[in-house]
Amino acid sequence: MTLLGPWLNFYQDPWFWQFPIATIAISTGTFVAFAIPWTLLAWFNPKAIQKYKIQDKEFEFKQFFWPSIGRLFTNNLAMLGILILSWPLIKLTPIHMGEMPAWYFIIPQILFFIFMDDFLYYWMHRYFHENKWLLKNVHSVHHRIRNTCGINGNYMHWIEFCATASLMLLGPVLIGAHLYVVWIWVVIRQFEAVDGHAGYDIPWNPAHWLPVYEGPVYHDFHHAKFKGNYAGFLPYLDRFMGNTYVADYLSYLKGKKNGLTPLAIAKALKVKRPAAKTTDQAT
Ligand SMILES: [Zn+2]
Ligand SMILES: [Zn+2]
Repeated sequence: MTLLGPWLNFYQDPWFWQFPIATIAISTGTFVAFAIPWTLLAWFNPKAIQKYKIQDKEFEFKQFFWPSIGRLFTNNLAMLGILILSWPLIKLTPIHMGEMPAWYFIIPQILFFIFMDDFLYYWMHRYFHENKWLLKNVHSVHHRIRNTCGINGNYMHWIEFCATASLMLLGPVLIGAHLYVVWIWVVIRQFEAVDGHAGYDIPWNPAHWLPVYEGPVYHDFHHAKFKGNYAGFLPYLDRFMGNTYVADYLSYLKGKKNGLTPLAIAKALKVKRPAAKTTDQAT
């Protein structure tokens, strides 16, 4: 009974509602909020923005819209289960609701989370591709979609989803962040998850203001070509980790510098979808 105590009473602990539950709610809510405009855009695919589409083919809307919603639900449910099971340990982490740090501490903390998460994600993602079992049984789910739109961002195996979410929490746990700072970071991380799958490289995407980010095109080429471009968000890592860029992605950047539209480059590069499963099969 004493051993089971922390589990039996977890739901009576206000910190349980403030930390894991509120964080999951914010995470899911912001993902959906960021995904809605990009998904609507992909759905209607208005003529005026078709020239900004990264791949010269239709979105896989019919096959993967509802499966994406389904997996968003089941993946978050799996994460909730893990958080409940590990609650006695999570309670011990130094994440807190004490005094809010000054903005000049918050900004470096957030930058640390972004760069550390992206670095770890690069290696985890590369391992998902190098380990045959993980690739076949886990990561291949996310790769069923070759031409993604916003809502597809969390379409993945629950093991990959939980590993990605845990990676995200590592930075805040390491430095003992304030919970509100964790929430700011969660919002940014979900922005990353949606933007990388947007499917369009639109000049007025606010993400282009970010200095070290190239926009959705970086991760889009990972889906189109399967090998290379392993970081989650920041394209600089592939350069330093043995030049793991997708070759066509570098050609794309050159074409863009020369003033070509994404669609013109896609036609020139023939960014075609390799043969793939097109249904959401149980894993
Ligand atoms: Zn991958
Ligand atoms: Zn992806």
